[in-house]
Amino acid sequence: MTKKAWNVCPACGNEIIDGTQAIVLSDRRKGLAGCWQLIECNFCGIISMIPMPTDEQLANYYTVYSKDEMVDLSQKIGSRHPKLRKLFHRLSGDVDPRDFVQVSKNLRVLDYGCGHATYLSDFHNRGIAISGAEIAEYVVQACQKKGLDVQKVEDVNQIPFANGEFDIVYLMQVFEHLRNPNEFMQELNRVLKTGGMLYIAVPNKKSIWRKVFGTNWVSGWFAPFHLFHYDRNTLVPIARRHGFEPIKVWSSTPESWFRLNLKAFLFPDENSLDWKPSWLDMRLVQYVIMVVLRGIELFVRERDCLVMKLEKRG
Ligand SMILES: [Zn+2]
Repeated sequence: MTKKAWNVCPACGNEIIDGTQAIVLSDRRKGLAGCWQLIECNFCGIISMIPMPTDEQLANYYTVYSKDEMVDLSQKIGSRHPKLRKLFHRLSGDVDPRDFVQVSKNLRVLDYGCGHATYLSDFHNRGIAISGAEIAEYVVQACQKKGLDVQKVEDVNQIPFANGEFDIVYLMQVFEHLRNPNEFMQELNRVLKTGGMLYIAVPNKKSIWRKVFGTNWVSGWFAPFHLFHYDRNTLVPIARRHGFEPIKVWSSTPESWFRLNLKAFLFPDENSLDWKPSWLDMRLVQYVIMVVLRGIELFVRERDCLVMKLEKRG
């Protein structure tokens, strides 16, 4: 008998025995109508969206993803003062690859899912041989116009670069959007040189804030865009299966994520939180949240954003 799609784990392919613990979510951030179901696999421990949206549905969801189609590639304060930025991020909890990806001028770097190319253009301005890949056509065009090497992602399962092209690849808040984690990990292996480094940042399903906020943990859940939810124990086996060894694993809660979850909690009927201004966004309030958050997290191991540095073994 063939397995039915609704009870097969899309991450490991095993049949999920207990689907009764489903988490049912609506979109709280981009205003999409509907609800989506997440189930934790009792084999691999990964939480997946079941049923997985079709390509057509995903394409539809992403039409509302970004409201602003302007790409601003000007140098920001963070790129002019790297030491100050790093110090500030220790307080804000922001996960910024410029703070920890160890680049140098003789290394080829790929920013996969580079978004508005904030990090990529900064690395480029510092003389790093960096390329990017992005699905949004307007981003690709804006970057190319500025002389940045950003290639269009035509097929989400394929990286538009040659075998063994890169020494470093990083993906910031991208991997959880991809519907074929195993195939994609193999793709990452393909474009990296042996001994190359892979940095992945994803929401952490073991985060203490998931328990605190429940369904209001919108920074992590982000239905229907986040298709999978990982933690260190579930992401490492996928990486190992495809030739990677973890070098360093850590987690951090960006103040902006925490603030978004707080908004979700305070405004339970709001479904376009990403665009909802609130008194919580006042600078002074942000600083207070930062300080309180850093204080609490001195005693916490599992924070909202999980970051992994992995090495491609020969
Ligand atoms: Zn599974």
